[in-house]
Amino acid sequence: RQAAFRTDLSVLLDQVGAGKESLSFMKRRIRRLAQQWATAANRLDAKLEQRWRDQKKILVHVGFLTEESGDVFSPKVLKGGPLGEMVQWADILTALHVLGHNLKISMSVKELQGFLGVPPGRGSCPLTGPLPFDLIYTDYHGMQQMKQHMGLSLKKHKCHIRVIDTFGTEPAYNHEEYATLHGYRTNWGYWNLNARQYMTMFPHTPDNSFMGFVSEELNETEKRSIQQNKVNNMAVVYGKEASMWKQGKEGFLQILHRYMEVHGTVYYETQRPPEVPAFVKNHGLLPQHELQQLLRKAKLFIGFGFPYEGPAPLEAIANGCIFLQPKFHPPHSSLNHEFFRGKPTSREVSSQHPYAEQYISRPHVMTVDYNNSLEFDSAIREIMRTKVEPYLPYEYTCEGMLERVHAYIQHQDFCALEPPFMPANLSRQGSAGGSRITGPLFVPLPNSTAVGWASNVTAPPAWPPLSSLRLLVSQEGQSCVEACHSNGLVCEPAHFRFINNKEALHRLEVQCEVVDSEINHILPAFSVVRRECGLQREPLLFSCAGHSPKYRRLCPCRDFRHGQVALCRDCL
Ligand code: UDP
Repeated sequence: RQAAFRTDLSVLLDQVGAGKESLSFMKRRIRRLAQQWATAANRLDAKLEQRWRDQKKILVHVGFLTEESGDVFSPKVLKGGPLGEMVQWADILTALHVLGHNLKISMSVKELQGFLGVPPGRGSCPLTGPLPFDLIYTDYHGMQQMKQHMGLSLKKHKCHIRVIDTFGTEPAYNHEEYATLHGYRTNWGYWNLNARQYMTMFPHTPDNSFMGFVSEELNETEKRSIQQNKVNNMAVVYGKEASMWKQGKEGFLQILHRYMEVHGTVYYETQRPPEVPAFVKNHGLLPQHELQQLLRKAKLFIGFGFPYEGPAPLEAIANGCIFLQPKFHPPHSSLNHEFFRGKPTSREVSSQHPYAEQYISRPHVMTVDYNNSLEFDSAIREIMRTKVEPYLPYEYTCEGMLERVHAYIQHQDFCALEPPFMPANLSRQGSAGGSRITGPLFVPLPNSTAVGWASNVTAPPAWPPLSSLRLLVSQEGQSCVEACHSNGLVCEPAHFRFINNKEALHRLEVQCEVVDSEINHILPAFSVVRRECGLQREPLLFSCAGHSPKYRRLCPCRDFRHGQVALCRDCL
């Protein structure tokens, strides 16, 4: 069946259910943004020009909100606990509904069992018949529950699953055996999915798919009135929980207070939290729409280093604030920081909000060293002088999110047979000598190479299309994320299978004494010194994120749309 856009959200609101603060929060959000979603649906509908869209049967199982997972979030909704996840699930549900799919929502194991048609009760009862859904969106908690209650059949159906995973999962952590053998095993990862089945809150590593969420959009009249009513010396502090204000914040709060009136939205029960200095005007935790009103007046939204990578800075920038945040030197990661420890990624977080730092940047975002009080002081003064317009990247508008989710649903297929990975005819090559490459190479691979590779297998057309592929070599120690980025491109893991072959090495004029095929997330790559080339034997380990000091990597890069990094130019 063809999917038809929906602009009426009442059915969705009924489906979400009631009885918990988390659900009320999500419903308030869905209602508040309803008009915005409707406008976006009409625009995307026009843009897609009657294109056929399959209506999919979709189950959304929100694992972290189930009683069975302990549901630690719901009781904290009104107490300054994390809301980012709830924001994102509300938006995912809305996007799927608006796109016109056939949606079922489950927030308990019992509902999950009901929808999947497995007998209720504990223990693993495999699902015997076919999976009654084309797609299942869940999270790590939900995965665990499905494993418990679907038993072995989970393996059979896992290509239909999408895991909403805030901070991301890198391929080395996702591959069970590899993770176990090489020290990448965590409590979360090792589900042996295709890494693109993990969907993140921000475009962290391109190894995963970027799901995102939306922020409030303003029309021209609102933008103008916001700019007229900005209070140049008004700052709002990012941090709704008192603990985020603890330790070592007095110094720069004092500097800030020298120039500006400081506001906070810190949750408190009866008394003012002692962590919040007396000169701060604390409003207590605000409902989302009241926070937006506060942000419309404020000139500065200032982060203290925690929470990491939340939605609030985008909302602030969309309401015309400048976001000031600390640079992390050295970057925070699972190797050196408690918060990230045990998360299935080694991604280095260079500031409180790397997306704001790298994708938005000046004049909307300033990332400075908070330990340097001169730098901090001059940043505040610069912010007071600078005029900015409200700004929201397209990928965080409703239309942008609908466009991206539409593209994923219609094109990403992890169930279909993929072309062979095992590079044929591995042998020692006669020619001696290392690579002649000295700088980063930028070699477009002619379509014929890749197409020839795939032509003898019945597979769906490649997506992103091969026309977007650019083959490139990283420096030693550089990941493909960085190598592509420094050439104005983005790493595209779906293209690895087309460059994991001798022809690609040949094209790059890499002269290998040996070409081996191994299981290692750095591959395909080569060592200049040892004149060794390696191809990847395990497709699940194709990794944009991987890097190693001794290796230069073969990187499959692609172009991307301005403001929609998830999609290449010809991806729609
Ligand atoms: N928020 C809110 N009231 C407040 C402060 C924040 O409703 O007083 C909302 C805000 O609009 C944002 C959400 O909380 O959408 C999540 O914010 P944050 O960036 O703090 O991320 P988190 O750590 O909660 O995931």
